[in-house]
Amino acid sequence: MPASSTPPNSAKMPGRNNRLISLHLTLNDEPVKAMHIAYLSVGSNLGDKLENCRNGISAMTCSASIRLIDQSPIYRTEPVDFRDQDWFVNYAVKIETDLDPLSLLNFLKSIEQNAGRVPHAVRFGPRVLDLDIILYDDVVQNDSKLTIPHPRMHKRRFVLKPICDIDPDINHPVLQQKLLCLLENMDEEGQGIIEYK
Ligand code: ADP
Ligand code: MG
Repeated sequence: MPASSTPPNSAKMPGRNNRLISLHLTLNDEPVKAMHIAYLSVGSNLGDKLENCRNGISAMTCSASIRLIDQSPIYRTEPVDFRDQDWFVNYAVKIETDLDPLSLLNFLKSIEQNAGRVPHAVRFGPRVLDLDIILYDDVVQNDSKLTIPHPRMHKRRFVLKPICDIDPDINHPVLQQKLLCLLENMDEEGQGIIEYK
């Protein structure tokens, strides 16, 4: 067929033009990774607490899989659960990630260990770095390795306050209450939290 008689609607013509179009798509279509929003709690009560937290966040954001979106103010917080230990430095970060929840947890654990955290130490006891997944999209997950939302988040002022500083309107996907509402209604006894100046 002479070039001048090519039909205007080339989609109907299974010829050379369409092959070129599909090659173009194959070369340029990188698989698009789904991105997720997670809120993490960061804490330390051993050594240079603030530096430990900062280094933990830096290690995390070195990864191409994690982007820091926001960070709360930094707090000094009273130890809960296991009370006979030093006050903590605590804050929260909001991240975007393409890691699934378990891969994210494993990555955070590797950062904790690189910071010198001793595995199997006293439960709720002193730690050089603690990185917890508090929320991951609206995911609800409960298995032997990982519980999301974090199972104690709604009882911990040192978790709720910094996350509410970032996004007060977040809904708890299980309790179906705003985090700000949970924070305002919680018993503050023994849960001192002072902004770090
Ligand atoms: P916590 O941070 O509550 O004081 P740990 O840091 O000692 O407790 O964590 C104990 C274990 O809890 C971890 O080894 C991890 O496997 C598990 N875990 C379950 N859900 C979570 C979560 N959402 N974030 C972090 N760890 C979790
Ligand atoms: Mg933890």
